[in-house]
Amino acid sequence: MVRIAVDLNRCQGYAQCAFLAPEIFTLHGEEALLYAPEADEAQRAKLAQAAAACPVQAILVDAVDVPAEAVSDAR
Ligand code: SF4
Repeated sequence: MVRIAVDLNRCQGYAQCAFLAPEIFTLHGEEALLYAPEADEAQRAKLAQAAAACPVQAILVDAVDVPAEAVSDAR
C-alpha cells in the first residue's frame, strides 16, 4: 500500500495531479481536491509523477519502503 497525503493548505488546485493520476486525485470545482489516502503499489510510479508535477509540492507519497517481513511481523 502506498500512503498519500496532500497538504491542502498548499494546494492551489492546479489539477496536475488529477490529470496524471485521475484514479487517485479528483478536483471538485475550482480548488476542492479529493484524493484517495491509499493506493496500490502498482500506482506508485504514477503517484511519483503526480507528486513531481505538482507546482507547489503539496503531494507527499509515503517514501518509506518497509520490508515485507517487517510488515508481516507487525500483524
Ligand atoms: S497538482 Fe498540487 S496544487 Fe494542483 S491540484 Fe494537485 S495537489 Fe493541488
